[in-house]
Amino acid sequence: MARYVLKFGGTSVANVTRLHHVANLVKEQAEAGHELVVVVSAMAGITNELVGYAQSLCPDKLTPEHDVVLSSGEQVTSGLLALALTRLGLISRSYLAWQVPIVTDDNPSQARILKIETEQLERCLKQGIIPVVAGFQGINDQLRLTTLGRGGSDTTAVALAAALKADRCDIYTDVDGVYTADPRLVANARKLGQITYAEMFEMAAQGAKVLQARSVELALKHRVKLRVLSSFFKASGTDIVEERKFVESTQISGIAHNPHEVLITLKGVPHQIDLMAQIFNRLAQHRISVDMLVQTHAVNGKVDLNFTLPQADLERAQPLLEQLQKELIFSNLDIDQDVVKISVVGIGMRSNLEIGRNLFNTLASHQISVRLLTTSEIKMSVLITKQQTALALNVLHEVFNLEGGDKECALSA
Ligand code: ADP
Ligand code: ASP
Ligand code: MG
Repeated sequence: MARYVLKFGGTSVANVTRLHHVANLVKEQAEAGHELVVVVSAMAGITNELVGYAQSLCPDKLTPEHDVVLSSGEQVTSGLLALALTRLGLISRSYLAWQVPIVTDDNPSQARILKIETEQLERCLKQGIIPVVAGFQGINDQLRLTTLGRGGSDTTAVALAAALKADRCDIYTDVDGVYTADPRLVANARKLGQITYAEMFEMAAQGAKVLQARSVELALKHRVKLRVLSSFFKASGTDIVEERKFVESTQISGIAHNPHEVLITLKGVPHQIDLMAQIFNRLAQHRISVDMLVQTHAVNGKVDLNFTLPQADLERAQPLLEQLQKELIFSNLDIDQDVVKISVVGIGMRSNLEIGRNLFNTLASHQISVRLLTTSEIKMSVLITKQQTALALNVLHEVFNLEGGDKECALSA
C-alpha cells in the first residue's frame, strides 16, 4: 500500500461531469489499496472571474480581502468532489486550509507555507476517509486567509506530500505530461518521460505553467517524488527526477515562453550606483521584482536601463517610476507591453557553447529581433515581440532537435 497526494487542476474539475470523472479516478486508486489525500483547484476560469470582481472594487491586489475572494473557488470544488466521492460509496470529507491547518506567512496573494499540521489528515487516513483539501489557500498567524500565488494548488499538493511523507505527488492536469514546449503552441512538441527538478523549475519559472515554480522548488527541497499526468485519458506522464539519463544527447530539455512581462526602459539615468539602487529599492519595497536587467554603455555620464517586470505589477510600478522620473533620476520612461520572453532550458547547456550561437542565428534568419537577453547556468532567455511567439518557439524547437513523440493524445479541453 502506498500513500499518494493527488492534485486535480482547474480543467480537471471544470464541471460536474469532470468532477464525477475525477471521483472515479480516485476510486480506482482507493480500490487498489492506496492511502489518498486529494487536492483541488477551483473550476477553470473561476479564479480569473474572482480576480475581476475584487480588482474592480480595489485595483491593489495585495489586500487580505482579495485573498478571501480568490480562495473561495477552491472551497466549492473541495465540497463538490467530496460529495462526488461519497456518491461513489467512498468516505470523504472536505478540508479548507484553516481546518488542516496550512499555516502561511502574511504576504497577501503570494504567501509561503510555513507549517502544515498533519494530525487531522493522519486521523482521516487511519479511518479510511479520503480528505479533499482546497488548494491555493492558507491561513496566517492573524487567522486571516491567504493565497499562494496563481497556480498555487500545485504547491499545496507538494507541501502536503512532504508533510505526510507521501510516496508520490501526482499532478493531474489537461496535458499528459511536461512537453518540450507548450503543446498548444508547438505542434511538434514532444512529451518528456523525465525532466530534472532544476530544469522543471526553470521551465516553470520561465512561464511553462504546467507546474507552479514554487511547487518544484519545494519538491526538490523535501525530496518529494513528483509526476505530471492527464486526468482526461490514461497515458504515462512525466516524472520529475534528480538526474535524467542521456544528458549528453539531449542538451536542451525544453523551451518556455512567458507573455506576462512588460519591458521598461529608463532613459538618461545618471551613471551613479546610488541612483540605480534607489530605483530598484523603490520597486522592491513594493514587492515588485525585476527581471532581465540590461544597462547600456555610459554616454556623457548617462545610461539607459532596460528591464522587465510582471505585467500584473505594472499598475503599481508605473506611478512609482513616474515619481522617480519627477525626482530627476532619469529623463524618459518607456513601457512596452508587446513583448514575450522565450527561454531555452537544459542542463546540457552548461557544457555547450554552440547553443547561444544557434539561438541567435536561427532568430536572425527568421527576422526575429532580440530586445533583451539574459543567461543562467541552465537557461538562455530572449525578449522578442509577442506576435513572433509561435514562430520563435517553433523554429527554435526545430533547430534544437526537440520534436517527435506521441502527439495525438497530448491535449484535452
Ligand atoms: P491546471 O489547471 O491543471 O493546473 P494549467 O493550465 O495550470 O493546468 O497547466 C497546464 C497547461 O500548461 C497546459 O494546458 C499547457 O497549455 C501549459 N503548458 C505550458 N508549457 C507546457 C509544457 N512545457 N508542457 C506541458 N504543458 C505546458
Ligand atoms: N485556482 C488558482 C489559480 O487559478 C490556483 C490553481 O489553479 O492552482 O491560480
Ligand atoms: Mg496550474
